[in-house]
This record gives sequence, C-alpha cells and structure tokens, in this order.
Amino acid sequence: MQIVLFPHPALRFPSVEVQRIDDALRSAVQKMFALMYESKGVGLAANQVGLPFRFFVVNPSGDPEKKEEEEVFINPIISSRRGMEFHEEGCLSLPKIYSDVERPLEITIDAFDLNGQSRKRKIKGFLARVIQHEYDHIEGFLFTDRIEADQHDEIYEDILLVAEQFRKQQAEGLYDGDEGIEKELAVMAANGRVPAGFSTTKKPTPAPNAE
Ligand code: ZN
Repeated sequence: MQIVLFPHPALRFPSVEVQRIDDALRSAVQKMFALMYESKGVGLAANQVGLPFRFFVVNPSGDPEKKEEEEVFINPIISSRRGMEFHEEGCLSLPKIYSDVERPLEITIDAFDLNGQSRKRKIKGFLARVIQHEYDHIEGFLFTDRIEADQHDEIYEDILLVAEQFRKQQAEGLYDGDEGIEKELAVMAANGRVPAGFSTTKKPTPAPNAE
C-alpha cells in the first residue's frame, strides 16, 4: 500500500459507502495507520491509498505509541458545524506544502467504528480540524480547494512539482494512466468493499528512498 500523490484520480473520485466491515477492510486500516505514522501524519483517508470508500483513520497525536488516540471513521456524516478559525494544514498527498485553512471549530459527527458500532458526538479543536480535512478527502476535496487565490499562488509551483512526481510514477509504470485508474476505482466502488490483497500500485511498492 502506498499514499498517492496529487493528482492521482482517487483524490477526486466520488467515494462510496463501505458495505461491510471485513478482514480486508481491517487489514487496510492497519496498513493505513502504519503509512500515516511513517509519513508523520495525523490522519489518512481511504482514497489517499487508492481506495474509493468513505472511511479514514486519525490519531491527532501522530504518535504510534498512543494507540488510545487512534480512531477509524466509517461512513461518517458531519451533521453540524460551529464557529470558524484559521490554522495551518498540510497533506500527505501534497507533501511539504502548507497553508492556513479556515474551518469550523466544532463539529457533530456520526460514524461507524471497526466493530460496526455507530456513535454520534461533538468534537472540537485540533481533532475536529483533522477530521474535517479527512472528511474533505472522501468528498473529493483537498485543503488547497479551501484557500484564497493569493494563498494558492504562493504554493502553486510546489503543487506542480508534486504533480510532476505523480506523472513520473505513472510513466515508470507504478500506476496505470488516469483512465485505467478510474476504471479500477469504479469497479471497486461498485463492489462496495476493499478487495482482498489490495495493492495501491501496479508494481510492488519500492522501499523508501530507493533510487
Ligand atoms: Zn490530506
């Protein structure tokens, strides 16, 4: 499994609800946590690893030792939002790019966990921000869609460099062309479940920093 870079088509693909919580989903969640920690992230959405489903993982501490802060949100619905504040955000699909994003301070969210239990709660502060960033992912949005034009201008060159890196990965055969990827996403979405033995890439994921 690998975190996909912008503009991998999964990042804009309309994710569908998870139909069943099975071993393939549980295994994907474990791998997503591992990738998230490896990349020093605090949240990761399913479509960021090429899975077109409505779930994401978070650990606001970013600390793999703090398992008690790990949470999985499956088929989440944000039903209310209150307040507004600016805070800097980054994204594992747009590495090393940061910008201030305005978001509600407090949300009410309803979601299932890995045990299939649904829970509705109010969340505020940093965790609410992380959740809204990940929720945006499964809706097909990136934080760069939520910033002002002048902020976007400041990071535009960096976004192009990330895009270039993704196109290079495609040219090297790590990924299919956009159309092929979209077809595969549509098949997975129609099945409504994570395929057993799912791999983000066509080739085995290269070791980090391998040239
Ligand atoms: Zn992100």
